[in-house]
Amino acid sequence: MQYPQQICILGATGSIGTSTLDVISRHPDKFKVFALSGMNQLTKLAEQIRTFVPNYAVVKDAAAVKELKQILGASIGKTTLLHSKQGLIDIASASEVDCVMSAIVGAAGLLPTLAAVTSGKRILLANKEALVMSGELFINAVNKHKAQLIPIDSEHNAIFQCLPSDFIYGDKQASGISHLLLTGSGGPFRELPLAQFSHVTPAQACAHPNWSMGQKISIDSASMMNKGLEFIEAKWLFGFNEDDIEVVIHPQSTIHSMVQYVDGSVIAQMGNPDMRTPIAHGLAYPNRIESGVGPLNFAQLSNLSFSTPCKKRFPNLFLAIQASKSGQAATTTLNAANEVAVDAFLQGKVNFSQINTVNDMTLQKQNTSSLTCIDSIIEHDASSRILAHQIIKELV
Ligand code: NAD
Ligand code: MG
Repeated sequence: MQYPQQICILGATGSIGTSTLDVISRHPDKFKVFALSGMNQLTKLAEQIRTFVPNYAVVKDAAAVKELKQILGASIGKTTLLHSKQGLIDIASASEVDCVMSAIVGAAGLLPTLAAVTSGKRILLANKEALVMSGELFINAVNKHKAQLIPIDSEHNAIFQCLPSDFIYGDKQASGISHLLLTGSGGPFRELPLAQFSHVTPAQACAHPNWSMGQKISIDSASMMNKGLEFIEAKWLFGFNEDDIEVVIHPQSTIHSMVQYVDGSVIAQMGNPDMRTPIAHGLAYPNRIESGVGPLNFAQLSNLSFSTPCKKRFPNLFLAIQASKSGQAATTTLNAANEVAVDAFLQGKVNFSQINTVNDMTLQKQNTSSLTCIDSIIEHDASSRILAHQIIKELV
């Protein structure tokens, strides 16, 4: 790895973006911020621009450029402001950039992340929805353009760390791997009486016991749709079959995932639940750098517990596994429906249990045509969203 690395952060104002800048700020000799993007939170973006002085910053539209210019005044310095989807694509594929942190939430991250892939960048993938939406096409593009894909989602980063260094994509036999163990805490409702699920509020669903995250992933964690999306993400990142991935509930979030080998060995990656660890690992890979995360205090780790997820409690997880088995159209549909349903829940239009109803009904009503190019994936995503909106209208 050659330092300094020029970094582009898609979604800099979010939870992952902020943690990425925190790690970068600890290593000014190793990482330079070339570009940042932020959809809202312009005051926060302005602060980041003043601190990191990037060459480019990308916002939603021309009006946001105007507003950000006003906030920055003379402190805009050398930063050029761009906007819209094209701005995101331009910074993700700029020739000066070595490494792109993909941390936009949801389907909006797909095209800029793919632009980084087709430009052969090193990609730190936090935006799991991009991979869920486009799976094989995404991985084929990574191989074709010789991009380097490093998982940032803590579970997948853990598995990446637990695999042998000569692991060949999809070849579990050559490495003597039995299966992957994907851990999940079970979120804030792991023990909530089932009858109360339809009454939970967005604030309760967002209050994750171990991790501090953006709103959408917090809701997904509470419904365990997050683990469902991660199941699909693991399948594509490592080339495994559905039968080779097991979900394990581990409420303490100390083990971030594991690899079970055929000789009975299990290799686990552990650490405090702080995304700066996988981010630092991705930024410096194959080296190690300080991340700001403190060491695990084993004297205080009195109990690590494990159990299997319950279908009645977490139907979204099982719906996602079923969709993964059905194929690309189903996972694209599920991702789109879930984004619409989570948004409707946050707006008070549907209750928490109805997120699963919307996802399930959209999957039942949507066709399963084969999606072979990015345009067909985007069309399928759009028609799935329309279906999900119709279903919500009928429900309320
Ligand atoms: P967040 O909501 O805190 O931040 C999202 C970022 O994306 C913000 O910068 C926002 O401005 C930007 N954004 C939102 N909509 C956009 C749009 N339409 N166009 C362009 N930019 C847009 O989310 P987060 O928690 O940081 O998560 C980001 C991604 O990382 C998600 O895909 C999530 O699943 C994944 N992830 C997050 C965590 C975590 O701990 N937060 C862990 C693992 C994976
Ligand atoms: Mg995760």
